[in-house]
Amino acid sequence: MLRNVSISFFDTNPYSSGNHNANEKTLKIRICGLPLSVDDSAVYELLDKNDVKTKSKILYEKIRHPVTGKMTSVLNGNRFIYVEPLPDDKHLPRINYCTGIRCLIFHFGQPKMQRTLTCTNCWTSGHTRNHCNNEPRCKVCKTPGHEPGDPKCSEYEQLQNVIAFNGQDSVLSNFFPCDLNL
Ligand SMILES: [Zn+2]
Ligand SMILES: [Zn+2]
Repeated sequence: MLRNVSISFFDTNPYSSGNHNANEKTLKIRICGLPLSVDDSAVYELLDKNDVKTKSKILYEKIRHPVTGKMTSVLNGNRFIYVEPLPDDKHLPRINYCTGIRCLIFHFGQPKMQRTLTCTNCWTSGHTRNHCNNEPRCKVCKTPGHEPGDPKCSEYEQLQNVIAFNGQDSVLSNFFPCDLNL
């Protein structure tokens, strides 16, 4: 109460999130990991695909100066936007792809990302190599009986016009001994 007037306090300026009314609820969404050169239109497309109703335009995070800790005007590619709160049972997936580039979305109420175990022997999830009873599988095509890079692999591509060289026995290698005349 201030001079008999009741005043609400807000953690942040409620109007900066695109609200028309101070009590309107908004959700802040952070989109992280995209290069600065990715166009906002692609980000809007991603949000649209997730049925997100935007309230503000896309805003950019700035980098703090590593020494002074002061905010700089340098942008790091991370963006944020204020949107209408999602229905109670809905949240956005953490891992997303925007123009083919992997990015992470963070917002309040999003469940913590569960780490899924992937077995490096059979490449299925739910257990580790030490507890694996399956036969080994190829990491690339996920079928048993061969290793990645084997001609039996369905993903195997014969490289033509490629000369592999390494070590002191290959003439093209920089470890191949040769005489220098100075
Ligand atoms: Zn396994
Ligand atoms: Zn394979």
